[in-house]
Amino acid sequence: MSDRVRRFNHLKKCFQGIVLMDEPLSNHTSFRIGGPADYYVYPRNLKDLVKLVDFCHDEQLPRFTIGAGTNLLVSDEGFRGMVIDLSRGFHEIQHRGLIVEAGAGIRLKDVIRYCTERGMSGLENLAGIPGRLGGCLRINAGAWGCEIHDRLQNVQLLDSTGVLEKRDKIEIVSGYRFTNFAEEEILIKAEFILGEDNPVAIERRKESVLRERKAKQPLSLPSAGSVFKRPQGDFAGRLIQEAGCKGLRIGDAMVSKKHANFIVNCRLASARDVLNLIGEVRKAVFRQFGVELELEIHLLGFENT
Ligand SMILES: Cc1cc2nc3c(=O)[nH]c(=O)nc-3n(C[C@H](O)[C@H](O)[C@H](O)COP(=O)(O)OP(=O)(O)OC[C@H]3O[C@@H](n4cnc5c(N)ncnc54)[C@H](O)[C@@H]3O)c2cc1C
Repeated sequence: MSDRVRRFNHLKKCFQGIVLMDEPLSNHTSFRIGGPADYYVYPRNLKDLVKLVDFCHDEQLPRFTIGAGTNLLVSDEGFRGMVIDLSRGFHEIQHRGLIVEAGAGIRLKDVIRYCTERGMSGLENLAGIPGRLGGCLRINAGAWGCEIHDRLQNVQLLDSTGVLEKRDKIEIVSGYRFTNFAEEEILIKAEFILGEDNPVAIERRKESVLRERKAKQPLSLPSAGSVFKRPQGDFAGRLIQEAGCKGLRIGDAMVSKKHANFIVNCRLASARDVLNLIGEVRKAVFRQFGVELELEIHLLGFENT
Protein backbone atom coordinates (compact mmCIF):
# COMPACT_ATOMS: atom_id res chain seq x y z
CA MET A 1 0.00 0.00 0.00
CA SER A 2 1.41 3.44 -0.89
CA ASP A 3 2.16 6.02 1.81
CA ARG A 4 -0.58 8.23 0.38
CA VAL A 5 -3.28 5.60 0.72
CA ARG A 6 -2.02 4.47 4.15
CA ARG A 7 -2.26 8.06 5.42
CA PHE A 8 -5.70 8.48 3.91
CA ASN A 9 -7.00 5.29 5.54
CA HIS A 10 -5.48 6.30 8.87
CA LEU A 11 -7.10 9.74 8.70
CA LYS A 12 -10.50 8.27 7.82
CA LYS A 13 -10.29 5.98 10.83
CA CYS A 14 -8.96 8.35 13.49
CA PHE A 15 -10.53 11.63 12.55
CA GLN A 16 -14.17 12.69 12.94
CA GLY A 17 -14.31 15.31 10.19
CA ILE A 18 -14.32 14.89 6.42
CA VAL A 19 -11.13 13.82 4.58
CA LEU A 20 -10.72 14.12 0.81
CA MET A 21 -7.80 12.94 -1.29
CA ASP A 22 -6.56 14.69 -4.45
CA GLU A 23 -9.09 17.45 -4.00
CA PRO A 24 -8.87 20.15 -6.73
CA LEU A 25 -8.10 23.44 -5.01
CA SER A 26 -9.80 25.29 -7.88
CA ASN A 27 -13.00 24.31 -6.01
CA HIS A 28 -11.80 26.30 -3.00
CA THR A 29 -10.34 29.51 -4.44
CA SER A 30 -12.15 32.60 -5.67
CA PHE A 31 -9.79 32.62 -8.71
CA ARG A 32 -11.20 29.14 -9.59
CA ILE A 33 -7.59 28.11 -10.17
CA GLY A 34 -5.38 25.50 -8.50
CA GLY A 35 -4.35 21.87 -8.83
CA PRO A 36 -5.08 19.13 -6.28
CA ALA A 37 -4.13 18.93 -2.62
CA ASP A 38 -2.99 15.47 -1.52
CA TYR A 39 -5.38 15.71 1.46
CA TYR A 40 -8.15 18.22 2.10
CA VAL A 41 -9.66 18.01 5.57
CA TYR A 42 -12.51 19.64 7.46
CA PRO A 43 -11.86 19.21 11.20
CA ARG A 44 -15.07 19.17 13.20
CA ASN A 45 -13.69 20.47 16.49
CA LEU A 46 -10.54 21.41 18.36
CA LYS A 47 -9.74 17.81 19.27
CA ASP A 48 -9.83 16.89 15.59
CA LEU A 49 -7.64 19.84 14.68
CA VAL A 50 -4.99 18.95 17.27
CA LYS A 51 -4.96 15.38 15.92
CA LEU A 52 -4.33 16.69 12.42
CA VAL A 53 -1.48 18.94 13.52
CA ASP A 54 0.13 16.01 15.39
CA PHE A 55 -0.40 13.74 12.39
CA CYS A 56 1.30 16.18 10.02
CA HIS A 57 4.16 16.60 12.47
CA ASP A 58 4.67 12.83 12.87
CA GLU A 59 4.44 12.20 9.12
CA GLN A 60 6.49 15.32 8.26
CA LEU A 61 3.64 16.35 5.99
CA PRO A 62 3.44 20.01 4.99
CA ARG A 63 0.13 21.63 5.97
CA PHE A 64 -1.69 24.78 4.97
CA THR A 65 -4.73 26.41 6.58
CA ILE A 66 -7.21 27.76 4.06
CA GLY A 67 -9.98 30.28 4.67
CA ALA A 68 -12.33 31.08 1.80
CA GLY A 69 -9.39 31.05 -0.65
CA THR A 70 -10.11 34.63 -1.69
CA ASN A 71 -6.55 35.90 -1.36
CA LEU A 72 -4.81 32.91 -2.86
CA LEU A 73 -3.14 31.82 -6.07
CA VAL A 74 -2.57 28.06 -6.03
CA SER A 75 -0.20 26.48 -8.57
CA ASP A 76 -1.48 24.25 -11.35
CA GLU A 77 0.41 21.38 -9.72
CA GLY A 78 -1.48 21.91 -6.45
CA PHE A 79 -0.11 21.23 -2.98
CA ARG A 80 1.82 18.16 -1.78
CA GLY A 81 0.50 18.06 1.74
CA MET A 82 -2.63 18.67 3.79
CA VAL A 83 -4.98 21.61 3.43
CA ILE A 84 -6.99 22.28 6.60
CA ASP A 85 -10.35 24.00 6.15
CA LEU A 86 -12.09 25.25 9.32
CA SER A 87 -15.37 26.14 7.63
CA ARG A 88 -17.32 23.11 8.90
CA GLY A 89 -16.70 23.33 12.60
CA PHE A 90 -15.39 26.67 13.75
CA HIS A 91 -18.20 29.07 12.95
CA GLU A 92 -19.81 29.78 16.30
CA ILE A 93 -20.54 33.40 17.20
CA GLN A 94 -21.76 35.01 20.43
CA HIS A 95 -21.52 38.27 22.31
CA ARG A 96 -21.60 39.74 25.80
CA GLY A 97 -22.17 43.46 25.89
CA LEU A 98 -20.15 44.96 23.07
CA ILE A 99 -17.67 42.09 22.91
CA VAL A 100 -18.16 39.63 20.07
CA GLU A 101 -16.45 36.26 19.96
CA ALA A 102 -16.40 34.35 16.68
CA GLY A 103 -14.81 31.22 15.24
CA ALA A 104 -12.16 31.49 12.51
CA GLY A 105 -14.23 29.47 10.03
CA ILE A 106 -17.15 31.91 9.89
CA ARG A 107 -17.51 34.22 6.88
CA LEU A 108 -16.64 37.84 7.69
CA LYS A 109 -19.97 38.90 6.17
CA ASP A 110 -21.81 36.76 8.75
CA VAL A 111 -19.88 38.41 11.59
CA ILE A 112 -20.82 41.83 10.18
CA ARG A 113 -24.47 40.82 9.78
CA TYR A 114 -24.57 39.52 13.38
CA CYS A 115 -23.10 42.79 14.69
CA THR A 116 -25.29 45.02 12.53
CA GLU A 117 -28.50 43.34 13.70
CA ARG A 118 -27.50 43.94 17.32
CA GLY A 119 -26.45 47.56 16.89
CA MET A 120 -22.74 46.84 17.27
CA SER A 121 -20.63 48.95 14.97
CA GLY A 122 -16.99 49.07 13.86
CA LEU A 123 -16.63 46.30 11.28
CA GLU A 124 -19.20 47.45 8.70
CA ASN A 125 -16.60 49.21 6.49
CA LEU A 126 -15.21 45.75 5.82
CA ALA A 127 -18.48 44.61 4.21
CA GLY A 128 -17.87 42.96 0.86
CA ILE A 129 -14.54 41.36 1.81
CA PRO A 130 -15.31 37.76 0.90
CA GLY A 131 -12.94 35.98 3.33
CA ARG A 132 -13.47 33.93 6.47
CA LEU A 133 -12.51 35.37 9.83
CA GLY A 134 -9.23 33.40 10.14
CA GLY A 135 -8.00 34.52 6.72
CA CYS A 136 -9.01 38.13 7.37
CA LEU A 137 -7.17 38.16 10.69
CA ARG A 138 -4.09 36.50 9.25
CA ILE A 139 -3.61 39.19 6.61
CA ASN A 140 -5.25 42.05 8.56
CA ALA A 141 -7.87 42.64 5.88
CA GLY A 142 -9.01 46.20 5.49
CA ALA A 143 -11.03 48.66 3.46
CA TRP A 144 -12.15 52.29 3.53
CA GLY A 145 -9.72 53.29 6.26
CA CYS A 146 -10.51 50.33 8.58
CA GLU A 147 -8.54 47.21 9.34
CA ILE A 148 -9.89 44.15 11.10
CA HIS A 149 -7.21 44.41 13.80
CA ASP A 150 -8.55 47.87 14.78
CA ARG A 151 -11.32 46.17 16.77
CA LEU A 152 -9.45 43.05 17.80
CA GLN A 153 -8.99 42.20 21.49
CA ASN A 154 -7.41 38.77 21.35
CA VAL A 155 -7.16 35.58 19.33
CA GLN A 156 -6.98 31.93 20.21
CA LEU A 157 -4.64 29.87 18.10
CA LEU A 158 -2.83 26.59 17.86
CA ASP A 159 0.86 27.36 17.81
CA SER A 160 3.26 25.59 15.49
CA THR A 161 3.57 22.66 17.89
CA GLY A 162 -0.18 22.26 18.27
CA VAL A 163 -0.48 23.94 21.69
CA LEU A 164 -3.51 26.15 22.33
CA GLU A 165 -2.64 29.75 23.09
CA LYS A 166 -4.57 32.95 23.79
CA ARG A 167 -2.77 36.01 22.40
CA ASP A 168 -3.77 39.56 23.28
CA LYS A 169 -3.75 42.25 20.64
CA ILE A 170 -0.83 43.96 22.33
CA GLU A 171 1.32 40.88 21.64
CA ILE A 172 0.45 40.85 17.92
CA VAL A 173 2.32 43.00 15.43
CA SER A 174 0.11 44.09 12.56
CA GLY A 175 0.08 46.74 9.87
CA TYR A 176 -1.13 47.31 6.34
CA ARG A 177 -2.05 43.78 5.07
CA PHE A 178 0.50 42.37 7.47
CA THR A 179 0.63 40.42 10.74
CA ASN A 180 3.38 38.52 12.48
CA PHE A 181 1.40 35.29 12.93
CA ALA A 182 3.72 32.44 11.98
CA GLU A 183 2.79 30.46 8.89
CA GLU A 184 2.21 27.30 10.93
CA GLU A 185 -0.09 28.95 13.48
CA ILE A 186 -3.79 28.20 13.08
CA LEU A 187 -6.20 30.90 14.23
CA ILE A 188 -9.24 29.39 15.88
CA LYS A 189 -11.32 32.21 17.28
CA ALA A 190 -11.15 35.90 18.11
CA GLU A 191 -12.78 38.55 20.28
CA PHE A 192 -13.57 42.05 19.10
CA ILE A 193 -14.71 45.12 20.98
CA LEU A 194 -17.31 47.14 19.11
CA GLY A 195 -19.13 50.43 19.50
CA GLU A 196 -22.84 51.02 19.97
CA ASP A 197 -24.98 52.46 17.18
CA ASN A 198 -28.39 52.31 15.60
CA PRO A 199 -28.73 49.15 13.43
CA VAL A 200 -30.36 51.20 10.67
CA ALA A 201 -27.40 53.61 10.55
CA ILE A 202 -24.90 50.72 10.50
CA GLU A 203 -26.85 49.00 7.74
CA ARG A 204 -26.84 52.22 5.72
CA ARG A 205 -23.05 52.53 5.98
CA LYS A 206 -22.70 48.89 5.01
CA GLU A 207 -24.92 49.31 1.95
CA SER A 208 -22.97 52.37 0.84
CA VAL A 209 -19.66 50.49 1.05
CA LEU A 210 -21.14 47.59 -0.93
CA ARG A 211 -22.41 49.99 -3.61
CA GLU A 212 -18.94 51.55 -3.95
CA ARG A 213 -17.39 48.11 -4.38
CA LYS A 214 -19.89 47.14 -7.03
CA ALA A 215 -19.16 50.34 -8.94
CA LYS A 216 -15.36 50.01 -8.79
CA GLN A 217 -14.55 46.30 -8.74
CA PRO A 218 -14.98 43.58 -11.38
CA LEU A 219 -17.17 41.36 -9.22
CA SER A 220 -18.69 39.30 -12.02
CA LEU A 221 -15.44 37.47 -12.88
CA PRO A 222 -13.31 35.24 -10.62
CA SER A 223 -10.39 37.05 -8.97
CA ALA A 224 -8.51 37.24 -5.70
CA GLY A 225 -9.14 40.94 -5.08
CA SER A 226 -6.20 43.36 -5.21
CA VAL A 227 -3.12 41.57 -6.51
CA PHE A 228 -0.55 44.08 -5.24
CA LYS A 229 -0.18 46.04 -2.01
CA ARG A 230 -0.47 49.81 -2.08
CA PRO A 231 3.03 51.23 -2.54
CA GLN A 232 4.04 54.08 -0.20
CA GLY A 233 2.08 57.23 -1.07
CA ASP A 234 0.43 55.82 -4.20
CA PHE A 235 -2.03 53.25 -5.53
CA ALA A 236 -1.02 50.08 -7.36
CA GLY A 237 -4.11 50.43 -9.59
CA ARG A 238 -3.05 53.91 -10.75
CA LEU A 239 0.52 52.82 -11.55
CA ILE A 240 -0.67 49.74 -13.44
CA GLN A 241 -3.21 51.74 -15.41
CA GLU A 242 -0.70 54.45 -16.31
CA ALA A 243 1.86 51.84 -17.31
CA GLY A 244 -0.70 50.82 -19.95
CA CYS A 245 -1.51 47.40 -18.51
CA LYS A 246 -5.32 47.60 -18.28
CA GLY A 247 -6.74 44.82 -20.44
CA LEU A 248 -3.31 43.12 -20.79
CA ARG A 249 -3.94 39.40 -21.22
CA ILE A 250 -2.02 36.15 -21.03
CA GLY A 251 -4.12 33.09 -21.83
CA ASP A 252 -7.37 33.61 -19.96
CA ALA A 253 -5.83 35.81 -17.26
CA MET A 254 -6.43 39.52 -17.77
CA VAL A 255 -5.71 42.77 -15.97
CA SER A 256 -9.24 43.99 -15.32
CA LYS A 257 -10.42 46.87 -17.47
CA LYS A 258 -12.55 48.06 -14.55
CA HIS A 259 -9.90 48.03 -11.78
CA ALA A 260 -6.26 47.69 -12.83
CA ASN A 261 -5.15 46.10 -9.54
CA PHE A 262 -7.43 43.11 -10.15
CA ILE A 263 -6.45 40.19 -12.37
CA VAL A 264 -9.52 38.29 -13.51
CA ASN A 265 -9.94 34.75 -14.75
CA CYS A 266 -11.88 35.20 -18.00
CA ARG A 267 -12.63 31.48 -18.28
CA LEU A 268 -9.92 28.87 -18.00
CA ALA A 269 -6.85 30.77 -16.83
CA SER A 270 -4.04 28.69 -15.35
CA ALA A 271 -1.95 29.72 -12.36
CA ARG A 272 0.97 29.97 -14.77
CA ASP A 273 -1.00 32.52 -16.89
CA VAL A 274 -1.68 34.61 -13.78
CA LEU A 275 1.91 34.41 -12.56
CA ASN A 276 3.28 35.38 -15.98
CA LEU A 277 0.85 38.29 -16.14
CA ILE A 278 1.93 39.41 -12.67
CA GLY A 279 5.53 39.38 -13.96
CA GLU A 280 4.62 41.50 -16.98
CA VAL A 281 2.74 44.05 -14.87
CA ARG A 282 5.61 44.31 -12.41
CA LYS A 283 8.09 44.87 -15.23
CA ALA A 284 5.94 47.54 -16.88
CA VAL A 285 5.42 49.45 -13.61
CA PHE A 286 9.09 49.24 -12.71
CA ARG A 287 10.13 50.43 -16.18
CA GLN A 288 7.85 53.44 -16.03
CA PHE A 289 7.95 54.43 -12.35
CA GLY A 290 10.88 52.59 -10.76
CA VAL A 291 8.42 51.09 -8.24
CA GLU A 292 8.63 47.42 -7.28
CA LEU A 293 5.10 46.20 -6.64
CA GLU A 294 4.75 43.80 -3.74
CA LEU A 295 2.23 40.96 -3.90
CA GLU A 296 -0.82 41.18 -1.67
CA ILE A 297 -2.13 37.76 -2.68
CA HIS A 298 -0.60 34.67 -1.09
CA LEU A 299 0.94 31.90 -3.21
CA LEU A 300 0.62 28.19 -2.53
CA GLY A 301 2.37 25.25 -4.19
CA PHE A 302 4.94 27.16 -6.23
CA GLU A 303 7.96 26.02 -4.18
CA ASN A 304 9.23 23.60 -6.85
CA THR A 305 8.34 25.55 -9.99
C1 LIG B 1 -13.72 40.50 -4.91
C2 LIG B 1 -12.72 40.57 -3.79
C3 LIG B 1 -12.60 41.73 -3.03
C4 LIG B 1 -11.67 41.81 -1.99
N1 LIG B 1 -11.57 42.96 -1.27
C5 LIG B 1 -10.68 43.02 -0.26
C6 LIG B 1 -10.56 44.22 0.53
O1 LIG B 1 -11.26 45.20 0.33
N2 LIG B 1 -9.64 44.24 1.53
C7 LIG B 1 -8.84 43.18 1.80
O2 LIG B 1 -8.04 43.26 2.73
N3 LIG B 1 -8.93 42.05 1.08
C8 LIG B 1 -9.82 41.93 0.06
N4 LIG B 1 -9.91 40.79 -0.68
C9 LIG B 1 -8.99 39.67 -0.42
C10 LIG B 1 -9.49 38.64 0.61
O3 LIG B 1 -10.89 38.55 0.64
C11 LIG B 1 -8.97 38.98 1.99
O4 LIG B 1 -7.56 39.05 1.96
C12 LIG B 1 -9.38 37.97 3.05
O5 LIG B 1 -8.91 38.40 4.28
C13 LIG B 1 -8.83 36.58 2.78
O6 LIG B 1 -9.53 35.69 3.62
P1 LIG B 1 -9.70 34.18 3.22
O7 LIG B 1 -10.49 33.52 4.31
O8 LIG B 1 -10.23 34.03 1.87
O9 LIG B 1 -8.20 33.68 3.31
P2 LIG B 1 -7.42 32.72 2.29
O10 LIG B 1 -7.31 33.39 0.97
O11 LIG B 1 -8.00 31.36 2.31
O12 LIG B 1 -5.99 32.68 2.98
C14 LIG B 1 -5.20 33.84 3.07
C15 LIG B 1 -4.07 33.60 4.05
O13 LIG B 1 -4.61 33.45 5.36
C16 LIG B 1 -4.19 32.21 5.91
N5 LIG B 1 -5.28 31.68 6.74
C17 LIG B 1 -6.58 31.47 6.39
N6 LIG B 1 -7.29 31.02 7.45
C18 LIG B 1 -6.42 30.92 8.48
C19 LIG B 1 -6.53 30.51 9.84
N7 LIG B 1 -7.69 30.08 10.37
N8 LIG B 1 -5.42 30.52 10.60
C20 LIG B 1 -4.23 30.94 10.09
N9 LIG B 1 -4.06 31.35 8.82
C21 LIG B 1 -5.13 31.34 8.03
C22 LIG B 1 -3.88 31.32 4.72
O14 LIG B 1 -2.99 30.28 5.10
C23 LIG B 1 -3.29 32.31 3.75
O15 LIG B 1 -1.94 32.53 4.06
C24 LIG B 1 -10.84 40.69 -1.71
C25 LIG B 1 -10.97 39.52 -2.48
C26 LIG B 1 -11.89 39.45 -3.51
C27 LIG B 1 -12.02 38.19 -4.31
